[in-house]
Amino acid sequence: MSVTDYLDTIEPDLKNITRLFALPDTLWDSPQAFRMTMDERDGRYVCAWTDGRASATLDTPVPEATGDTRVDELHRRRAARRLCRQTLYALCRETTGIHPPWGSLTGIRPTRLIYEQLEAGQSLERARAEVVRQFDVRPDKAELLAEIVQTQALLPAPDDRWMDVYIGIPFCTTRCAYCSFSSGELGKGKLVEPYLAALFHEMEQGARLLADTGRGLRALYIGGGTPTALNEEQLARLLEATMRLFPGALEYTVEAGRPDTITPQKLRAIREAGVGRISINPQTMNDRTLRVIGRAHTAQQVREAYAMARAEGLRHINMDVIAGLPGENADDFAVTMAAARELRPESLTVHTLAIKRSSRLHLENAPLPDAATAEGMTEMGRETAKILGMTPYYLYRQKYMAGNQENVGYALPGHACLYNVDIMEENTHILAFGAGGISKRIYPDEGHIGRAPNVSNIEQYIARVEEMAERKRELFRA
Ligand code: SF4
Repeated sequence: MSVTDYLDTIEPDLKNITRLFALPDTLWDSPQAFRMTMDERDGRYVCAWTDGRASATLDTPVPEATGDTRVDELHRRRAARRLCRQTLYALCRETTGIHPPWGSLTGIRPTRLIYEQLEAGQSLERARAEVVRQFDVRPDKAELLAEIVQTQALLPAPDDRWMDVYIGIPFCTTRCAYCSFSSGELGKGKLVEPYLAALFHEMEQGARLLADTGRGLRALYIGGGTPTALNEEQLARLLEATMRLFPGALEYTVEAGRPDTITPQKLRAIREAGVGRISINPQTMNDRTLRVIGRAHTAQQVREAYAMARAEGLRHINMDVIAGLPGENADDFAVTMAAARELRPESLTVHTLAIKRSSRLHLENAPLPDAATAEGMTEMGRETAKILGMTPYYLYRQKYMAGNQENVGYALPGHACLYNVDIMEENTHILAFGAGGISKRIYPDEGHIGRAPNVSNIEQYIARVEEMAERKRELFRA
């Protein structure tokens, strides 16, 4: 295979690089578009990019042969593609003078680079330095990755003997303006009962599959959508089925995302079922913004929901907030952070707004805040978490994020969410139930992940649930 064969389908990655420098995608269509050459010389891949005025050339050793052709192909492909991206990055960095906070990284899991270095025998200190050197990541961001890896090292180690379970409830009371999920608005709720019937059936089949694989249950997460959008009786049935079919997990979480869906009875049912962690998510504590983003609750309702959850004995509440929401400036975000200090959640997830193509904000052409504002907000989030005594424990990035920042989960000691870490590090098998759930089988030795996605459309899911169960059986067939 020639080295250029490894670059098939790389164009989207390259566009992600030029977007780091705020260069428009249309640039790629112009006659002056970037041009690249790549070849193999004296045991090295050599890549050169030019934009007609400036050029950049980088090289890297061709990975050594391991004796396994498939693994060798994978290593070479990875090296060639990485070199191609990094050379283009070097050119853009040179011509624009911009230093993106995450350097040339465009993937969603930057912690993986630290783990790669650790697996190659480097110390954490050296791994951090290598991420700065190889990918031009800013030292403070590399430090954040190192802190996260240190926190993750305290968690029960993932391995092939474990599986996580995800149960999705794809209903919400209203649709948030930034939402890109396929969740349906509850409306009159006529799909809820048929959905639950299909879901319970899929869960029954899945419980049998889990037993057949001989694996233990690690973390279980009921998410969505908004699981607490179910009524009290429906939620109680969901919790009963969950605990009957999937007992003994190390951790149970229920997303109670919208404060206006929470009642004392629902919270009691959650606690009595044995769920240790819930999430109550204001996103912002400014009523004006809450209206703009389509959430049908107020900041006061968030306060009441926290008080209710504490009164019902819930000991681990996570709070999700978003930096960079439409119309918000640093003062607005400071209001949200002050509320976080007052409500004292056990974990705090600070997202940076990303405008996805399928969201209402994208349709409305809503602007993202400028890089400095977005950065100031994420810094404020970090500072708040520190004041609350939390450390960062997981991180991921998305496309189209304000200021090229990141999403970070912080937690008090002993409160890191295993499921969040597992899903981001992709190191644990997952059985996913419900519309849009994606089951995953991890093949660590081959660096490969097998997937069995459920259909996202709720009606389709109900009609084809048997097929969804079969997909999972196929995925985990020995
Ligand atoms: S609560 Fe979550 S799933 Fe529901 S509409 Fe908002 S972003 Fe989408």
